[in-house]
Amino acid sequence: MKEQQKPSIYSLRLEELELWLKENGEPKFRSTQIFEWLYSKRISSFEDMTNVSKSLQDKLSQAFTVTTMKTLIKQESKDGTIKFLFELHDGYSIETVLMRHEYGNSVCVTTQVGCRIGCTFCASTLGGLKRNLEAGEIVAQVVNVQKALDETGERVSHVVIMGIGEPFDNYDAMLSFLKIINHDKALNIGARHITVSTSGIIPKIYAFADEQLQINFALSLHAPNTELRSKLMPINRAYKLDDLMKAVRYYVEKTGRRISFEYGLFGGENDTVAHAEELAKLIKGIKCHVNLIPVNYVPERDYVRTPKEQIFEFERTLKKHGINVTIRREHGHDIDAACGQLRAKERQEETR
Ligand code: SAH
Repeated sequence: MKEQQKPSIYSLRLEELELWLKENGEPKFRSTQIFEWLYSKRISSFEDMTNVSKSLQDKLSQAFTVTTMKTLIKQESKDGTIKFLFELHDGYSIETVLMRHEYGNSVCVTTQVGCRIGCTFCASTLGGLKRNLEAGEIVAQVVNVQKALDETGERVSHVVIMGIGEPFDNYDAMLSFLKIINHDKALNIGARHITVSTSGIIPKIYAFADEQLQINFALSLHAPNTELRSKLMPINRAYKLDDLMKAVRYYVEKTGRRISFEYGLFGGENDTVAHAEELAKLIKGIKCHVNLIPVNYVPERDYVRTPKEQIFEFERTLKKHGINVTIRREHGHDIDAACGQLRAKERQEETR
């Protein structure tokens, strides 16, 4: 019989670790020591925790693993972007991207192996969903990238949950991940430096609003009306645009925070001035920001780029209505840095 994989120690919030210690007859203060070994000293084995008793080390290693993922690929782009392909214990591989900005180093994490949402333009969903990641496997991505940055004395300052997978389809693990990386005894990444993006799973938008976190929230909108959104994103057939906008308004009212709308520009589909006008009307009065994403070319998909001048025209139209808008800067264009591209390529090579 195959041995059951032990949970990752990185999946535990501090209070969960405290509880585990208590149940195992250990003092509570050990939890902060353990967090320090994991997140400040960044050890890769329980044996390295030298101020922790041998008997506790043994108990820990019987109950948990220190998730160490093998780096299958590490590709560095001319602009400093680094793309990692990590191997999980069961042989699946996941992508994590480090992006360098003027304001800091941002890590884009994956939350699922594959995705079941089926957006027609996205590489991550090709091949469907294989499994959810454990919280610890999401945390370990940030820890691993931080370890790579330790070589140059740099720090991961920002995290975006915009890699492969739909974070709201793996909600509990995502929430634990947020709490762990935000904790000052762990990676201490400020809530305002973390962004989560969803394709629009409505019940989870309400739940997320009620969490009252200071985390940045983005919605992949991509269309100004429900017919077009259903065509581009099948999830819109289950969670309709009208109801989605109600959830968005609830989020903004409840949290007082603004929302980011991601709007991919897919040539000939959703990128005319008329679409921009319709979009302005749809989001009128909502405290928001629009991030325009020129389509990333995916070989399996046949979307084409909107011409530059037309992108600017789209931007100007939104601005005219007083909407905050930016055009997403591309990172790592020379290394397939868009979500799912590297993994999709690997998979193709595997099946060849
Ligand atoms: N599943 C979440 C997280 C992914 S975030 C979500 O849907 O929001 C990645 C962003 O890139 C999403 O807005 C997604 O819709 C967008 N995206 C995916 N494939 C793309 C492509 N080929 N071109 C441009 N944007 C794309």
